[in-house]
Amino acid sequence: MPRSRSAARGLTVTEFDDERNLVVVGGGLAGLRAIEAVRGTGWRGSLTLVGAEDHPPYDRPPLSKSFLAEGPLDQVTPFRSTVQLREELGTDVILGTRVEGVDTDRRSLQLSDGRRLAYDSLLVATGSNARKLDGQDSVSGVVGLRTDRDAAEVRRHLDQGARVVIVGAGFVGSEVASAALQRGLHVTIIDSEPVPLTRSVGRQVGEMCVDLHRAAGVELRTEVGVASFASRGGRLTGVVLTDGSELPADLAVVGIGATPATHWLTNSDVALEADGGIVCGDDLATSVPGIWAAGDVAHVPYEVFGGDLLRVEHWTNAAEQGAIAGRNAIRGEGDPEKISGIPYFWSNWYGHRLQFVGTSLRTEEVVIGPGGPGSVVLYRRGDRIVGALTIDRGGDIMKLRRRIVARGSWDEAVEFATARVEDGSGTKQTLPA
Ligand SMILES: Cc1cc2nc3c(=O)[nH]c(=O)nc-3n(C[C@H](O)[C@H](O)[C@H](O)COP(=O)(O)OP(=O)(O)OC[C@H]3O[C@@H](n4cnc5c(N)ncnc54)[C@H](O)[C@@H]3O)c2cc1C
Repeated sequence: MPRSRSAARGLTVTEFDDERNLVVVGGGLAGLRAIEAVRGTGWRGSLTLVGAEDHPPYDRPPLSKSFLAEGPLDQVTPFRSTVQLREELGTDVILGTRVEGVDTDRRSLQLSDGRRLAYDSLLVATGSNARKLDGQDSVSGVVGLRTDRDAAEVRRHLDQGARVVIVGAGFVGSEVASAALQRGLHVTIIDSEPVPLTRSVGRQVGEMCVDLHRAAGVELRTEVGVASFASRGGRLTGVVLTDGSELPADLAVVGIGATPATHWLTNSDVALEADGGIVCGDDLATSVPGIWAAGDVAHVPYEVFGGDLLRVEHWTNAAEQGAIAGRNAIRGEGDPEKISGIPYFWSNWYGHRLQFVGTSLRTEEVVIGPGGPGSVVLYRRGDRIVGALTIDRGGDIMKLRRRIVARGSWDEAVEFATARVEDGSGTKQTLPA
């Protein structure tokens, strides 16, 4: 059996199985990184990417940031063109085509264009869909921001000087609010919670985020939801709230979270969690042999957090998991690679940079610093640090990350953060306002 020792991560792969066929479903970041990692091992089997969008994989975070800024359009450029995917990575690329079902016994996919596609190994990287409110699709001007098309629609309204309502004070909604405010537009954010973001980053950070909105001059209304969208001739004229009031609006951006894009798996043997995310091991294998998952769709146990099963909707997570799942999907023999990274994300609002690493699940949070920009927030479980959030302290977050990965002690982390805040180090210049 001829074998090659791959340059990448010393992975041994069978070279002879050119007839073996890996299909990656989902043309986002995780799917792209999977393909790059697979080819990076020197594997010569057949590789196919199926993606529902018309374009090859592109970067989503700029869609709620630089793409919405005033001035010349910052075009959405794919990471690699279709030609590059074909010629440099030897990938058959099927775009604008949805996978609608899987027959795991026959190892075959049903495509939206009527074709069936056989696989030997399957990697699911279908990401997530923006959650919707009732009636939002029937009114022009109500947008959930997930794709470049959505972003183009938001941008068009901002260019026209829209009165903006953001539904949901999460990270994406807050970034859109920031972009609208920078253009001098009137922005109102509504959120059903008393303190937005409490579930994801804790109450104290939620309160700091509320302060960021108010300090920037954005009206934030909490504990209120959307009753309906008012429209004339099919175009949005206002957002009617559950307290009976109406906010005049030309654009409503619905940022109320996302759900895993796994409808096509619901009748299969692939085990799903209650939210529709895919149950994976720490090697990203699903419950069905030959099928792996990565990115926004995957629930993965994190050993460093006592085996907590987390589904993480972050950029670095999609990149890391895509590469690992790709390599595991073509592994000829030997132990599969396990995830080693921990969740990390960033978000830019009103010229401030928020960064979070680790987990806030079942933790106690302690704020070190002024309680706003320049602060470090540490998340404690027992005598360990398991998470950290910083505002405008770019110099600290990776140092805290190392402590979390190394299962560092709580006391040492507090000492470190206190010293950094007190001597003024670790602060990074804020982003342009
Ligand atoms: C506006 C915005 C801003 C963001 N900002 C940040 C940020 O600042 N920091 C951060 O860490 N993260 C950010 N994120 C999150 C980050 O971009 C995602 O976690 C990441 O893109 C997930 O990658 P993925 O490959 O798992 O899924 P996706 O990027 O969602 O890609 C999945 C792809 O699969 C396709 N697909 C879905 N179903 C099917 C099907 N049945 N058949 C074929 N194809 C299918 C989809 O059309 C899509 O192209 C942001 C996300 C958005 C939307």
